[in-house]
Parts: sequence; C-alpha cells; structure tokens
Amino acid sequence: MIRLIKGFHDILPDETPKWGFIIRTAGETLERFGFREIITPVMERTELFERGIGQVTDIVEKEMYTFEDRSGDHLSLRPEATAGILRAVVEHSLLRREPILKVYTIGPMFRRERPSKGRFRQFFQINAEVLGDDSPFTDAEAITAAHAIMTNIGASGLMMEINSVGCQQCRDDFRAKLRRFLEPHLDELCPDCRRRYDLNPLRILDCKVDRCREIAKDAPVISDSLDAGCKEHFHKVQEILSLLEVPFRVEPRMVRGLDYYTRTAFEIIHEELGRSKAVGGGGRYDTLLKELGGPDASGIGFAIGVERLAMGMREEDPSYARRTDVYVAILGEKAREAGIRIVNSLRRQGLSAETRYSGMSLKAQMKVADKVRAKNVLMIGDDELARQEVTVRDMQTGDQFRISMDGIACYLQGDKR
Ligand code: AMP
Repeated sequence: MIRLIKGFHDILPDETPKWGFIIRTAGETLERFGFREIITPVMERTELFERGIGQVTDIVEKEMYTFEDRSGDHLSLRPEATAGILRAVVEHSLLRREPILKVYTIGPMFRRERPSKGRFRQFFQINAEVLGDDSPFTDAEAITAAHAIMTNIGASGLMMEINSVGCQQCRDDFRAKLRRFLEPHLDELCPDCRRRYDLNPLRILDCKVDRCREIAKDAPVISDSLDAGCKEHFHKVQEILSLLEVPFRVEPRMVRGLDYYTRTAFEIIHEELGRSKAVGGGGRYDTLLKELGGPDASGIGFAIGVERLAMGMREEDPSYARRTDVYVAILGEKAREAGIRIVNSLRRQGLSAETRYSGMSLKAQMKVADKVRAKNVLMIGDDELARQEVTVRDMQTGDQFRISMDGIACYLQGDKR
C-alpha cells in the first residue's frame, strides 16, 4: 500500500462538515469586513519567498519544499500566502484601480517542519491582507476581523496578544541593544542562534532551544526601543481595539517569525497550546510591497491555521453537522422504481435525499438514515405502492403517518427544521 506523505493529512468525510463550517464562516466574516477573495497558485518562484519572507528565517532556510523543475526553474510550494498575494497585486497593478485593497484567501500551505500534534507539513490557512493604508484604524480593523472569525466560529480559550515591533529604525536600535545583551552569552547559544547573532538577532528571541529561551527571557524588549511615531501608532491601535470591545493583551516579548513585520504584530494564542502553537498571527508590513517591486504602499495581514482552530472546537456541534432532508426506505423489489423516482424528484427540487438500492431490511435502512442524520424517513413498500402513498416518519418527534405520493415535496418543503 502506498501511504500518505509524512506530515500531510487527509480530511475525511466525517471531518469535512466542521472544516466546511470553519472555512465558510471565515469567508463570510471577512466579506462582511469588505474583503474579497483572491486565489493564487500554491507554487511560486523560490526567489519570491526568499525576498518576501527573508533569507534568514526558519521558513526559508529549512522548511520550504523547493525543487528545480525540468527546465531548471527554482520553484517552491508556498509556505505562506502573503508573498504570493502581493506578487499578484503588483503583477496585475491592482492598487492602481483600488488604492485600498482588502483581499483574503483560504488554502493549503507547505512547510517541512517536524510534524507533531497540530503541526503539519501541509496545513490550511485563512489569510487576509489590507493593502494601501497605514493608519492604526486599519490595524485595529484587521485585528477585529481576526477576532470576529474566532467569535463567529465559536472557538473558545483564545487570547489576542499584540505588540509593536517598530519600524526599521527602531529595530536597528533594538538589534544593537540585543547584540550587546547577547554578546556575553554567545558561547551558550545554539549553533543556529550564533549565526543569527550576526545576521538577524531578532530571530534568537523565537528560538525553541531551551537554553536560548532561557537567555532570551531577560533580553531587552522592543517596546523600549520604539520611536515616538511607532509608540503613538501602537497606542492608537490599543485605543481603537478597546473602543471596539475587542479583548487583547499586550505582549512586549512577541516578535513574529517572519522578517517583514513593522509596527503592529499580533498572535492568537490558545491558552492550552501556548505560543509555539499559535492559532493565528499577523502584522503590519510597511516595506514589503516595495521590496517585491510594487508601489510604496503599506499593508497589514494575518493568517489563521484551520487545523489548530479545528482542534479547539467541539466535535459534535449541531451548527456544522450536515443533515439530510429525507431518507427513502425502499421495501421490496416492486417499490424500487417508485422509490428512485421520488428520490430523484426531491433532489431536483433542491432537497437532499438519500436511499439504498440493495434490498436491505427496514432496520438496516433506519441505521443508514441515522448515519446520514435524516430529518425524515419515507417508507415505501407494496401496500404504499398500491395506494400511491408513502409512510413518513419524522425522525425528531418519532411521529409516523401516511401521505399521498403527490404531496411529498409539499410536505417536506413545509418542513423547515
Ligand atoms: P505563521 O505564518 O507562522 O504565523 O502561521 C500562522 C498560523 O498558521 C499559525 O498560527 C498556525 O495556526 C498555522 N500554522 C503555521 N504553521 C503550521 C503547521 N506547520 N501546521 C499547522 N498549522 C500551522
């Protein structure tokens, strides 16, 4: 047997209703906030991610599925959505027509991380971006949209953590401070962090190695390096979030794993899973569009992981369980033809209808009706056929009665449960 690739996973029919509910709810919520859907390819030129995400990031250094295709092009499966979206925006000059552009996409991302619970090599993200507006109101709106997705899905135990990672200048200042603090500990850092020390010391704050984490605990915080403009921006974001009654917590030690963030950064943390398995995260990026060849416009975006979100949800929530309007139990050979015609006619009228053809007993068919969560069962056997009737059982109340074949659709369509 050929097996699934390690770290990849199937979403089986019993799980897709929950999955569909999450994706639908997220899409509807974002549309309410004015976002429109954009769909970009799952594969891009490797260079796009190197430039967009940053060379010295775990994602680009270790986690991308990168290969050379038959004509020698260097391609990668997308590890995140922002770079591809911005490439499309620049390539199609979308900001020229719409100077403030709000787009979202939902789809699979690929990172060759070490698989564990809630960490996959292919995972789905809900991704939203607002481009062309650098006001703190936009940051607050993006955070509010992420929060609304969580609320509408009914996810619980989540916390919105926010921070400001400053602009390039603040970060230069912070990097110098951080290096000064880390220098005496250089020998104790892991080999990766020793390299990061020169190239990108901020990444050391994200390192998952115990000793590095211990050292990083006492490191200076970026909020002490913010200039007046960045401080004011962050202050305003918090003020608006409070006004909009979006709960949040300021987390001064949060620096996000990607290079491109400036100013506002945020993460959605599950109280039990912790920061290393955040449910979502995002932030502002003021220079990324330009770096990718676009206009000098800023953006803010976020990504929410569908698997992590699904993990925190109850399995049997009636709001996403699919129900079948009617199961038609065909009892005996003679009733088969009438039975399948009824099923087909109900489907044509927009109702979900299911049956089995193989002459099963009524008991076995009632089990199927339960499995498909039928709201009603129609039974049709010799006697019903002779009278041109069917027996209806309302599966919620258990009531059972006869109606004429002509009146089936009318009865079911009046059945709004
Ligand atoms: P990031 O782009 O790393 O901030 O990721 C945004 C969100 O995507 C995270 O908060 C997770 O919910 C999800 N995510 C990232 N990496 C993985 C992964 N390897 N497996 C499952 N979900 C992930």
